[in-house]
Parts: sequence; C-alpha cells; structure tokens
Amino acid sequence: MRLQKYMALCGVASRRKSEEMILDGKVKVNNKIVKELGTTVDPEKDIIKVKDKRVRLEKRKVYIMLNKPVGFVTTLKDEKNRRIVTDLIEGIKERIYPVGRLDADTTGLLLLTNDGDLAYKLTHPSHEIIKRYIAIVEGIPNKWELEKFSKGLMIDGKTTAEAFIRIAKRYENESALEIGIHEGRNRQVKKMCEAINHPVKKLKRIAIGDIELGSLELGMWRYLTEQEIEYLK
Ligand code: URA
Repeated sequence: MRLQKYMALCGVASRRKSEEMILDGKVKVNNKIVKELGTTVDPEKDIIKVKDKRVRLEKRKVYIMLNKPVGFVTTLKDEKNRRIVTDLIEGIKERIYPVGRLDADTTGLLLLTNDGDLAYKLTHPSHEIIKRYIAIVEGIPNKWELEKFSKGLMIDGKTTAEAFIRIAKRYENESALEIGIHEGRNRQVKKMCEAINHPVKKLKRIAIGDIELGSLELGMWRYLTEQEIEYLK
C-alpha cells in the first residue's frame, strides 16, 4: 500500500496532507526518512513513524446483535455441515464471532463481536449478567415446581444457582415461561425444565442483562448502540 494512503487510513491526515508531510521529511519507514511519494509499505511488517511517533491501523471493534433463527449453529464450523450464524451477517469485513452459545434449535438474541476482552468477560462464569428466555414447555408447572426451579436443582451432578421463573402464559397443554439465569452451562434451561418434568418445546433468548432483542426480526441483525456497548463493558 502507498505510504500516504496508509497514513490517511490510520487517521494521521488526508492523503494530500500526508504527501506534504512525506515531502517535508516528517515520515520514517523502519527508522529511515522517506521523501518519495511512490513509496509502498507493508503495514504488517514495516514500522511507520510520523514526527517520530508510531502510527498504526486501529482495528475497528464491531458489536452486533442477531435474532438467531432455528437451524443455525453458533460455532464457526460444523461437522454436520449445518449453517453457521455468521452466514447471516453480510457486509462486515471484520472477523466477528458469537459471544457464548445458543443451541441450534434455540432462537433469539445472540451477540457477535471481534472484541476478545468483552467476549471473555461476558462468558466468564463469575460474570453475573442475567440471560432471559421465553420457554414454551409441556404442561403448566405448579408452585412447588416453580420453587424448585428458582431455588436451584441438580443437573449434571451440580446444583444450579438461584434463577428467576414465572408463568407468562397458560395454554391448554403447555405454557410459556419467562426464565432468567446467570450461569451459562450447556443446555442449561432445557435441562432445568426437564428436571421439573416440563420439557422445553421451544426456546428463545430475549435479553442479556439490559440488552433486549426487542422487535428485531428473526434472521436480522443490527449494530449495538453506544449505550449498549458501554453497558456491557
Ligand atoms: N439453555 C439451553 O438449554 N439452550 C440454549 O440454547 C440456551 C440456554
């Protein structure tokens, strides 16, 4: 890439102004002043300094929410050749990846980013952020079952932490439950509902902390707002 183009991309100055700086001898490549405007640089290898200060390309951090449809996996490769969630996100150059996971048959809110620090923080077990779900389950839980669910029950040999549960809607043979958990164990909501004998028929994540899916349509994505990013950090 031409030196002046690289300088402009790094936000040093416009290409025109960058050319002037090169001609003025203010720019060094690998510690040598360059004054030729045709100089090309390799941003991966060369060290470029302007007025003796190193300039680098700031990698843009990207934060996205997706309303994940059924059938897409949250890994970046799938041995069963199922579709992957990043196939749904077009027009983004950065390599983004899902924060945590949702089962292939779960829908709803999935965050994707290229910010490794944030992804680590949000998926770390000590992080207390509550994930909220709507689960359509078989039957209607009674108050003892609801209490058992919320106080903690045994799955995979370990007791679950306190959780939130309420019946959002009763149907004839099934019910819609609003559930909030802050752990992120494998298939946790399904296993917890199974443990109170109300297997999950459908599961949708509706919120991660204060970040809500809202009216985002299935299969659609949007950038997080500045406030949402601040909140997560
Ligand atoms: N709990 C589950 O059982 N499945 C998910 O996809 C998310 C939480």
